[in-house]
Amino acid sequence: MIVQTKYFGMMILRGYFNMKTKSLLRISCSFLFVMVLLFPSYDSFAQKSQIEVEKRGVVVYPSDLTSVGCEKWVNMANDAGLNVIALHSDTRLETLPKLKAFLESEQGEVFLAECKKYGINVEYELHILMELLPRQLFNQHPDFFRVDKNGKRNSDYNMCFTSKEALKIVKKNVVEMAHWIKPTSHRYFFWTDDVQLYCNCTECGIYSPSEQVLLYENSILEALKEYDPKATVAHLAYVETVVPPEKVKPLPGIFLEFAPIQRDYSKPLNDKLKTHLKINLEIFPPETAQILEYWLDVSMFSDWKSDKLVKIPCSKEQCRRDVVLYESMGIKSITTFGAWINGNYIQKFGEDYSRKILREYGEVLNNE
Ligand SMILES: [Zn+2]
Repeated sequence: MIVQTKYFGMMILRGYFNMKTKSLLRISCSFLFVMVLLFPSYDSFAQKSQIEVEKRGVVVYPSDLTSVGCEKWVNMANDAGLNVIALHSDTRLETLPKLKAFLESEQGEVFLAECKKYGINVEYELHILMELLPRQLFNQHPDFFRVDKNGKRNSDYNMCFTSKEALKIVKKNVVEMAHWIKPTSHRYFFWTDDVQLYCNCTECGIYSPSEQVLLYENSILEALKEYDPKATVAHLAYVETVVPPEKVKPLPGIFLEFAPIQRDYSKPLNDKLKTHLKINLEIFPPETAQILEYWLDVSMFSDWKSDKLVKIPCSKEQCRRDVVLYESMGIKSITTFGAWINGNYIQKFGEDYSRKILREYGEVLNNE
């Protein structure tokens, strides 16, 4: 009897536990099922939930557009969910006069009209200082120009950033330029020349490269605001100027543009660059800051050799990894170079591939 009681007691207990286990299992399974429905996978949830990029851009040369046809290029950008196309000029590959010729051409008109049709902002990201301070002024005013490492005034690139007279000329010329370079967003990217050469005169010598550049950017903002009250001006943090400025403060209306060209795309942004970006975001407002990346920069990945075009080595996952980081730092504006996604590129790798890389980039920015 005692044995039987024990036996039945055990049976009852076992049944109780079985029921409890089954209920628990059922509840757990239902919970997991709901979780799976809500969140396709933990990884994608963690990666995707936070992305909210307002300005989604690409930076190209005018010749990229014309070699494909402006209508088609703008259509590719629109299909990718991008809402900013910026034209680029520099001191090496495609200069400012080429940009001007493009904007005055029929293709330029088509480009602007197509962007307007799709609600895409048009901007201009330009290495432009040598155009704003004409080099022929050197003979009369060597003091306008930078002191090089040998202690000599040199008109090759950039300027003496503390020369008030030189800045006056720059301010006058920047307004003239704004008469034909008209960003629809009122964001001006009138960068210094594409070199790491700054001024070593006694006055400039106390300032770091980013501080010298900020003196110039503050001046052009003052001038542009008189012409275009909505004007804002980019502070380009790039190579040496990624180091945050300390002795010079940005005027309201200067926004950070962080372009980490020196990074390794197989790895997340390194700690040094991340720290520079973090401190820059304590100096410049995060809500107006823009990242200028190189995820789709065919020219850079092809080592700037147009006869050796390569496929983009950055994956969608790598791009997403970076965007998640930038977004977590409060950045709402992201663009990438897409230089040399052009006629030659489409000929070599096909239109489908070219559309695919743009689309995948757009999908990341649109949280897809
Ligand atoms: Zn100087």
